Amino acid sequence: MIYDNLTQLLDTIAQTAINCGRDPQEITLVAVSKGVGADQIRQAIDSGQTIFGENYLQEAAEKILHFPQKISWHFIGHLQTNKARLAAELFDIVETVDRLKVAQALDKQAKSLKKKLSILVQVNTGKEKQKSGVFPEEAEQLIRQIAQTTDLRLTGLMTIPPYFADPENSRPYFKALKTLAERLAEQSLFADNNQVALSMGMSGDYQVAIEEGATIIRVGTALFGARTARGDGPIPLS
Ligand SMILES: *Cc1c(COP(=O)(O)O)cnc(C)c1O
Repeated sequence: MIYDNLTQLLDTIAQTAINCGRDPQEITLVAVSKGVGADQIRQAIDSGQTIFGENYLQEAAEKILHFPQKISWHFIGHLQTNKARLAAELFDIVETVDRLKVAQALDKQAKSLKKKLSILVQVNTGKEKQKSGVFPEEAEQLIRQIAQTTDLRLTGLMTIPPYFADPENSRPYFKALKTLAERLAEQSLFADNNQVALSMGMSGDYQVAIEEGATIIRVGTALFGARTARGDGPIPLS
């Protein structure tokens, strides 16, 4: 089942990209495996998937040890400063940096691990109270402060728009993230200003996100099936 889901997903990603004039290679699929067992992750790996996303550090720590080094892990959950060590150790990219304190804690841990840690800044494009992420108008200031760190590599921005049943409604939030990234890139605030990562789009709206320039999509349900309550946080099951 996972093999079939993955095949179909990759096919839809490629078709969507081609239909809007993009190269499918520009789009990285992060398989979101929160609440998903190691056996299912193994099936996805055996089907060719190499990049996974996890939301909870403890859960991730237990699973990541099962898998070979060549698998890449993105942290996509809410991060507290006192967990920065574990996050810097386990993950290749932390997608959810939204405050200076978290960035500084990750920087310190990356330095002691002798690792350059890639990060994205999470932007709360919908300005929802219950969601993490820096507000769009505060992103530049945060990013200018992050630029003072030494062992982080700021590769782009990430967003989770408000939930809508109709994915079309996510479009303005994806556009807003892209516009913000372009403005910040003009000021050379990213590690590579010609290639800024935009992590946006989940099972329900990844096609719209690709049309709006996503370079990373984070997909769980469409790959692994509906999750049980655990592992969902505020994101509703589709
Ligand atoms: C759970 C989660 C996803 C995946 O959501 P699906 O709707 O299952 O594809 C993507 N991004 C984040 C930040 C998540 O927490």
